[in-house]
Amino acid sequence: MTDQLVPRVQLNDGFSIPQLGFGVFKVDPGETERIVSDALEVGYRHLDTARIYGNEEGVGRAIAASGIPREELFITTKLWNDDQGTESVRTAFEASRERLGLEYVDLYLIHWPTPARDRYVETWKAFEQLQQTDGLRSIGVSNFLSHHLERLIAETEIVPAVDQIELHPYHQQPATASFAEEHGIAIEAWGPLGQGKYPLFDLPEVTSAAAAHDVTPAQVVIRWHLQRGHILFPKSNSRERMAENFDVLGFELSEDEVAAITGLEREGRVSAHPDEFN
Ligand code: NAD
Repeated sequence: MTDQLVPRVQLNDGFSIPQLGFGVFKVDPGETERIVSDALEVGYRHLDTARIYGNEEGVGRAIAASGIPREELFITTKLWNDDQGTESVRTAFEASRERLGLEYVDLYLIHWPTPARDRYVETWKAFEQLQQTDGLRSIGVSNFLSHHLERLIAETEIVPAVDQIELHPYHQQPATASFAEEHGIAIEAWGPLGQGKYPLFDLPEVTSAAAAHDVTPAQVVIRWHLQRGHILFPKSNSRERMAENFDVLGFELSEDEVAAITGLEREGRVSAHPDEFN
């Protein structure tokens, strides 16, 4: 399969993003170049990293070594919490861009709202300035709940292109997702497989669909995300699983199968609460 078949999601700023990509949270910096090179060979063209993952250089080396034309790639990185603030955003962004070795970054996100710092509004205003430069295309946020988005929209000019939130069948964040949809903010699902912390692949709603379509439970969960309209970038260090997770465009879940998985919601958060993580 090639990336040409991966659907693209239209963003509110005129750019578009491949709906399925590859994430590198907890990918060891020493192994990142090899793992990302594998992902690019498998066919992924959308990569999701962050300063705090410590592996931007490895991502950049794999991109440079691949020879893939820059315009075929979509690269996201994120501003870490202690770099929030008017003065620090530009320096932090330039450092990330240099570590990635890129002339421009496709998407830059505020990683967490960290409300106790109360700096996400001024940070977002600095993002708006940064977007005027040649080094950056789209700007967005991560782990913002609807009340954080509401404040941002009220106090600043630009509506975020995306909100990257924890989202899997046990934790679908319907309030934030529907607020985002109403305001033209695309939803990116992080931890789309529940980070392996829940037995999602053993649930009958998932295994019965897997049997019906002759695919794996992981492929069913990824397909559920795609049909729900989420952008996602499941992570795996294994090339076999990278290929498995990318091979999800040759079948379609029925409406009932999608609804059964959507019915699994139970507020099963695996991460910190965005109001409490600072
Ligand atoms: P994930 O839900 O993608 O789960 C990864 C786990 O699932 C790994 O342990 C892997 O071994 C396992 N797995 C992957 N494919 C499998 C398969 N086919 N069969 C069985 N097991 C499989 O979790 P994640 O990596 O945390 O999330 C994906 C990406 O989201 C990250 O890499 C990162 O880019 C992003 N992320 C963002 C934030 C944020 O705060 N913005 C937080 C966490 C992750």
